[in-house]
Amino acid sequence: MKPDLNSSEARFSVELVSAAAKLASRVRDENSYAPHDKEDHTPVTIADMGIQALAGSMLTRYFPDGQLVAEENADELRKVSGASRLEAISRYVQRFTFDATPEKICDWIDRGRGFPQGTFWTLDPIDGTRGYLNGRQYATALALIREGQVTLAAIGCPELELPGYPMLGKGVMLFAEKGKGCWAASFDKENWVKLSVSQCSEIRNASILDSYDPDHKNNEKNDWIRNELGIEKKPIPLDSQAKHVVLAAGCAEIFFRTLPQRNPGYREKIWDVAPGAFVIEEAGGRVTDLNGQPIDYGTGEVLKNNIGILATNGLLHSEVLRATQKTVAGLS
Ligand code: AMP
Ligand code: MG
Repeated sequence: MKPDLNSSEARFSVELVSAAAKLASRVRDENSYAPHDKEDHTPVTIADMGIQALAGSMLTRYFPDGQLVAEENADELRKVSGASRLEAISRYVQRFTFDATPEKICDWIDRGRGFPQGTFWTLDPIDGTRGYLNGRQYATALALIREGQVTLAAIGCPELELPGYPMLGKGVMLFAEKGKGCWAASFDKENWVKLSVSQCSEIRNASILDSYDPDHKNNEKNDWIRNELGIEKKPIPLDSQAKHVVLAAGCAEIFFRTLPQRNPGYREKIWDVAPGAFVIEEAGGRVTDLNGQPIDYGTGEVLKNNIGILATNGLLHSEVLRATQKTVAGLS
């Protein structure tokens, strides 16, 4: 059994996350990340930029008029101060497309400034860059959105091993299409398995997934929710949408992101949510915000109409939601 990968959308997405895993692994093996702080003080590496350039180049080949809404842009690389980093990015991208020049690379990266309405792709070239830089988890996450609904997604996690799926080994790729389920394979695409969320319905036996980064959540509220639910097991920390992959594979039941203490006005970015939420839903799980609202993908890059995120195996959703709602209402 394997998913239907005949459409150009399916081929584009699987080809992109596979190439992304190769590029990111090479940069990591050669220790040539060249990390650089962006204006928002988050790191970006040669690999984030290289993967987004690959995406722009492949999009031009597969869907010349396709819209891409992606995390990075080439503004810094177009400056004189960005020249050496642009050279390094070009060397990696050339291993995948011979026609890569520094100018084309900037243009391919800036294809990610597409219009987030109607039909568009959204991409996080490296979700969890801090994890990537620190030998932990990271993911390349891609989703196709049509009129506010996700219809297809692919996520590549080069460093992830899924307990319960030893045949996949280390490095897994997920592919999901609306109504056709969620599938996982190793990057050689030899063996595909259909994923389902956990059937756990006893909240005290549930496992919670958690962000590593203390700035991406409110730890006090997280602890309060866990106590309220009577879950004694310590949360499992994982960077990136590797969390959503683990939940889709049935290896944990709950993930929520509370609003960070230092920045309670933070709203999720579309590329951090759409791919991961969709693979969970196609595996049988449920995703809303902390208030139980459906995720609204119609507000552009920032999900302005949603507060945080709650993803579960479905069976436990309403129980966890009762607790997360209280944290938003200030009752915790
Ligand atoms: P994490 O779940 O901690 O690995 O974060 C996943 C993604 O969400 C990363 O791309 C982060 O940059 C982004 N993110 C989540 N919360 C925040 C926040 N409070 N501020 C900035 N970025 C965030
Ligand atoms: Mg991200």
